[in-house]
Amino acid sequence: MSLISGWGRYPKVDCNVVSARSQADVAQAVAAAPLIARGNGRAYGDAAMNPGQTLAMTGMDRMLSFDAGVLVAEAGVLLADIIHTFLPRGWFPMVTPGTKYVSLGGAIAADVHGKNHHIDGSFRACVDWVDVMGPDGAVTRAAPGDTLFDWTLGGMGLTGVILRAQIRLRPVETMYIAQETRALTSLSATLDAFDETRDAPYSVAWIDCSDGPHHGHSLLLLGRHATPSELPSGWNRFNVKRKRKLPVPFGAPPFVFRGLWLRALNGIYWRRGARRAGQALVDWDSYFYPLDALANWNRLYGRDGFVQFQCALPMETSATGLAALMDAIAAAQTGSVLSVLKRFGPQSGPFSFPMPGYTLALDFPASDRSLALMRQLDDITLAHGGRFYLAKDARMPEAVAKADPRAEAFAAMRKQSGLSDHFTSLQSERLGL
Ligand SMILES: Cc1cc2nc3c(=O)[nH]c(=O)nc-3n(C[C@H](O)[C@H](O)[C@H](O)COP(=O)(O)OP(=O)(O)OC[C@H]3O[C@@H](n4cnc5c(N)ncnc54)[C@H](O)[C@@H]3O)c2cc1C
Repeated sequence: MSLISGWGRYPKVDCNVVSARSQADVAQAVAAAPLIARGNGRAYGDAAMNPGQTLAMTGMDRMLSFDAGVLVAEAGVLLADIIHTFLPRGWFPMVTPGTKYVSLGGAIAADVHGKNHHIDGSFRACVDWVDVMGPDGAVTRAAPGDTLFDWTLGGMGLTGVILRAQIRLRPVETMYIAQETRALTSLSATLDAFDETRDAPYSVAWIDCSDGPHHGHSLLLLGRHATPSELPSGWNRFNVKRKRKLPVPFGAPPFVFRGLWLRALNGIYWRRGARRAGQALVDWDSYFYPLDALANWNRLYGRDGFVQFQCALPMETSATGLAALMDAIAAAQTGSVLSVLKRFGPQSGPFSFPMPGYTLALDFPASDRSLALMRQLDDITLAHGGRFYLAKDARMPEAVAKADPRAEAFAAMRKQSGLSDHFTSLQSERLGL
């Protein structure tokens, strides 16, 4: 047994972790079901944990073929490895989350989204097919249009074990992003700016949810892939290197995430960003994965770990819903320094998290106080017709998850097809999926 957790380090539970290096290993684990597949453990909560059997897939990490941007790879391959292999040849993932340390299987199972959801949709948009091992050990190749594909993309490993997939990468001419930073002073100005720049290929905002004079201040980061003619002379188009990571001390003092300190840190962050507002050329790693520069930053919140809250709100209710969420967070005087706001485009697949509108994500230290606040945020989200991201969840009650009618349909489908006896996680049990 090993004591494991998701990225938030909450909850930590003893699980029987079994490693797969081949399809035969997966078949053996499936024969001894129930189980849940685990990728690189970057989901925040308990989605990739099953005390009875957690099947670690990062040993299945072979890239099988590549032709003109079309890659076939095993589920355990990390996005970081795909980038380091193919960016020097002019290819980049079509969709990427805010960390490159996710496995292909994890990206598919959560149907992850990036800063370009409003233009390109979620990960599903680049997946041609997935090979999924079902309860009887048979492998089915599922492609867009197949029911298995629809439920697997966003199905959090609960439709079977993803063995391999074919994905399409995006051609890029350089490894740089032409970035524009806008410093804004209110939520409504931020939403107006998102609206005005909705054709930007990438966009994301950091927004201050703390109480005090900076509440609602934001930094909107727009981006597009830079062309060779934009690079200063002497710059190498594809000088892709692995960067050294800055170590993070274990456990910042808890007061850092409260009242005055939180307000002060947010204020410093905004002023620093505002001074640098305007155009800049930044490398791919700094633009897409700023947090990856810090080694084990998930230890910052200390031994008890942290929980993330991420919801999506429909376009029509986003302005009032976000204001209500931010007011509740400010009143509670707790939360993260980095609260991330993104605009979503049309829903990509039937079980995908994103819906047309906005998504807000932020971390809270794991404590009774935070959990109570998050129940309040759940209610505000539901009252505004929103939904929640399973990849970030560690604590939602079943009733909140089931308020999304798709969850009930998913649970019924799993029961009917025998999946619920075979593929279960702590999360699926908690949410009655
Ligand atoms: C710093 C940070 C930033 C992030 N930013 C974003 C973001 O911008 N957008 C976004 O969408 N997400 C984001 N995430 C969440 C992350 O992208 C997802 O949780 C992703 O699923 C993690 O992949 P993983 O390989 O670590 O999977 P794990 O965390 O190990 O597992 C996640 C889920 O995938 C399932 N799974 C994994 N492998 C398989 C397989 N082979 N077969 C079947 N099921 C499998 C698991 O059962 C589990 O349900 C972020 C996470 C971090 C830590």
